Amino acid sequence: MCGLFSKMAQKIDSIALTTNWPVGPVNVYLIYGEKLTLIDTGLKNDQSWKELNEALHERGLDIRDIEQIILTHHHSDHAGLLERIIEKNPVPIYAHENARPYIERDVAFNQWSKEFFRELFTEFGVSDRLAQRLNHHKKKKLTESSLVLEKELKEGDGVPGLSSWKVIETKGHSQDHISLYCSDSRVLICGDHIIKGTPAGIFLDAPPLGEERAKPLIQYIDNLKKCLHLPVDQTFSGHGPTITNLDDAIHEQLERIENRASRVKNILKKHSGTGFEITQEMYPKRFQQSLGLFVSEITSVLDLLQQRNEVGAIKKRGKYIYHLLN
Ligand SMILES: [Zn+2]
Repeated sequence: MCGLFSKMAQKIDSIALTTNWPVGPVNVYLIYGEKLTLIDTGLKNDQSWKELNEALHERGLDIRDIEQIILTHHHSDHAGLLERIIEKNPVPIYAHENARPYIERDVAFNQWSKEFFRELFTEFGVSDRLAQRLNHHKKKKLTESSLVLEKELKEGDGVPGLSSWKVIETKGHSQDHISLYCSDSRVLICGDHIIKGTPAGIFLDAPPLGEERAKPLIQYIDNLKKCLHLPVDQTFSGHGPTITNLDDAIHEQLERIENRASRVKNILKKHSGTGFEITQEMYPKRFQQSLGLFVSEITSVLDLLQQRNEVGAIKKRGKYIYHLLN
């Protein structure tokens, strides 16, 4: 797909790279600005590497022609190929400040992140044995990275090498999520902030060392509303099709969140319980396979319901027991 905009604007090209995940291929983007910019990279595997290189060759380009990389967020389908690209072509990397420990593979942060999740699972009511299994994949020793985040991007910043673009912080999907907006082209590149037809993926991330965790669903709703009425004709997502009616897509996400919140409330109407008990009741067949995802999803819904004073929580023996208020 190739989009050509007004003469002021810069051409954007979308490249879909295979993931074999339910969410489908990841879309990475080339922006032909003052600097040829790659937005996101694809997964760290040979197939993505081959597909990215082929896509560049089809456009008469080579990996060495890329002049800078911007990440919408640190997830592996968006940042996985970073190292392989930088090995061939050491260009500057730009991302949100919260992406730094993932990009640079900060060992202290990684250790802190493990502790953070261990406590979170306990508070959620996951048994120690199950929590250990969940953490199993995180036991892999972190290897050093030579990658360096060149410059941190935050809300309202201009984008180096892309003069008509601005950064919009869109935390919620992750704590380092940014979107890029070009008012000249009326285009938004929104990463995984909004994916058409796919429920919001809300992930808990460990906060910066020693800080309190964020409440990602509350942030997410605020950041959906921030993007409402943005003058855009096309919104390019990290997965799925281009969105041509952003406001509709946002309302659809807001509605899905309310449905999710109602389902949690309906369970709590019957009895109080831990996050884990709510998850088991809500997803009786699926909770085991994707428990990590559900811990994020249900915890973040419970954050929202607590903020709305609809749900209360009492901590007993390390676990939060949630109950409906009034
Ligand atoms: Zn993501």
